[in-house]
Amino acid sequence: MAIRVTDLSKSYGNQQALKGISFEAKAGRVLGFLGPNGAGKSTTMKILCGSLLPTAGEAWVAGFHVHRESLEVRRKIGYLPETNPLYPDMYIREALNFMAGIHRLSQPRGRIEEVIALTGLAPELNKKIRQLSKGYRQRVGLAQAILHDPDVLILDEPTSGLDPNQLRDIRTLIRQLGKEKTVLLSTHIMQEVEALCDDVVIIRQGEIVADFELADLNRKYPDTSLEKLFIRLTVGE
Ligand code: ADP
Repeated sequence: MAIRVTDLSKSYGNQQALKGISFEAKAGRVLGFLGPNGAGKSTTMKILCGSLLPTAGEAWVAGFHVHRESLEVRRKIGYLPETNPLYPDMYIREALNFMAGIHRLSQPRGRIEEVIALTGLAPELNKKIRQLSKGYRQRVGLAQAILHDPDVLILDEPTSGLDPNQLRDIRTLIRQLGKEKTVLLSTHIMQEVEALCDDVVIIRQGEIVADFELADLNRKYPDTSLEKLFIRLTVGE
């Protein structure tokens, strides 16, 4: 298993954001992590990346425990946060160089050029990050996330706020990355799941309410679409 989460809970003060969730992401597949706003998606992803401690429960990424072996986890994981913390005054190459330093890459130059080509950043290299469109900023975020060639990618709502063309480009890129890597992708857009994902986990108010292979949707939930199922499982009390 590329990601294993067991009985994970997280409280912020007296607000229980995660109520003992368990799920797995299989290696080499794209898992859609679905839920309405406030369901606990970002909280789960932050715990997996080691940037947030759970209140209880455990998680492993690529076989490493997210807290006991956090250095190994950082090497294995690439994270695109929902609000992408880019450095606005840096040029693209500068930002990637900076990330390469953080990851202590031994051959940064070649890898940076590879990632620039893969994410289609070449036309914008003369711009500072603050001058880029949202779509290109998202590409820089993805480039930063994959720079150290991690096995597992955690993408928190990677297409939110993009226009249809940007959305198509980023989805194509994610599909390409998903061929080699395990991807955990959070979204509340059902078309995105249908376009990109192999497996689906639906979370609602900090609890898992569905966990299935997309190819099994019709067998497991006859006479419904993903959209209808999502609404049925996540709306109402
Ligand atoms: P999602 O990513 O699915 O929109 P989040 O994980 O961001 O959900 O949030 C889950 C719940 O935890 C929400 O009710 C949210 O308001 C709450 N929450 C998230 N971060 C914090 C925080 N830093 N302090 C207090 N509550 C938080």
